[in-house]
Amino acid sequence: MKKRILITGAAGFLGSHLSDRFIKEGYEVIGMDNLLTGNIANIEHLFPHPDFTYYHHDVTKFVHVPGNLDYILHFASPASPIDYLKMPIQTMKVGSLGTHNLLGLARAKNARILVASTSEVYGDPKVHPQKETYWGNVNPIGPRGVYDEAKRFQEAMTMAYHTFHGLETRIIRIFNTYGPRMRLDDGRALPTFLRQAIEGEDITVFGDGSQTRSFCYVDDLVEGIYRLLLSDYEQPVNIGNPDEISILDFAKEIIALTGTDQKIVLKPLPKDDPMVRKPDITRAREILGWEPKVSRKEGLAITYEHFKKVIAEKANPDT
Ligand code: UDP
Repeated sequence: MKKRILITGAAGFLGSHLSDRFIKEGYEVIGMDNLLTGNIANIEHLFPHPDFTYYHHDVTKFVHVPGNLDYILHFASPASPIDYLKMPIQTMKVGSLGTHNLLGLARAKNARILVASTSEVYGDPKVHPQKETYWGNVNPIGPRGVYDEAKRFQEAMTMAYHTFHGLETRIIRIFNTYGPRMRLDDGRALPTFLRQAIEGEDITVFGDGSQTRSFCYVDDLVEGIYRLLLSDYEQPVNIGNPDEISILDFAKEIIALTGTDQKIVLKPLPKDDPMVRKPDITRAREILGWEPKVSRKEGLAITYEHFKKVIAEKANPDT
């Protein structure tokens, strides 16, 4: 019997890569999405596959899946700062009501559930790098609060189901991740800088660019999720690449990679933008034997080629 897994947010960047991976591993995959920020093109290639089923559904409403389920991956959510600024209520609902529905479904099906949490639970961190034992520094009523607090609620609810119902739960805290199928217009630094370089626009660095991030290639993240799901560990685990870089140096790296002659322009720093971010991955190393394998240089080269293709296809849809 094949294992059956439900993946919410399946048409999104991470959900689509996860769908590919679990199909490859021989699972029966049920992909669910309401296409609020997802793109059906990300999973179109899976539709002919006999082990893939797509349900168009908003998980903030009661979730019904016929038949048994072995696993649930809850990855539905707007996930970039401009998305959750544009859709604050939906962001809060999918992290809270959506999580509650999926925990209920997991309980009804006796399935193991892994929820996608985030480095944003650490807010603008006062501890660096961030360990899972750090409680964070989040402004609940700031513009990012809708995402951060929904994910913090998600973690609390997930642990409550684990503790009080004995549900098998997993919590991953995802740090900045990139790769093919990211939306070019999602407003995040990496796709924005690459698109600007390809389309001949200035590179927009917010603030003075001294804030740092640590970028993980999507294949590494997917491997970490796969290992965590199959592990027996129910505490949160950071998955990310600890190779930290300032946003200004990152913009320079993109300019060097693409050979663009565009210049860097400084724009105002968004409110509550975290000044530093870098995962401490000791726990993932010890518990999962996981660490990232793809360097930023390799991952960026792949992503650059992908975005060039996407932009060329958009410019000449008939070719
Ligand atoms: N950023 C930037 N220019 C952009 C988009 C983002 O300088 O066009 C900055 C942003 O202010 C943040 C960092 O890049 O400091 C990473 O932002 P992103 O939106 O990629 O993700 P975050 O880690 O903030 O969720």
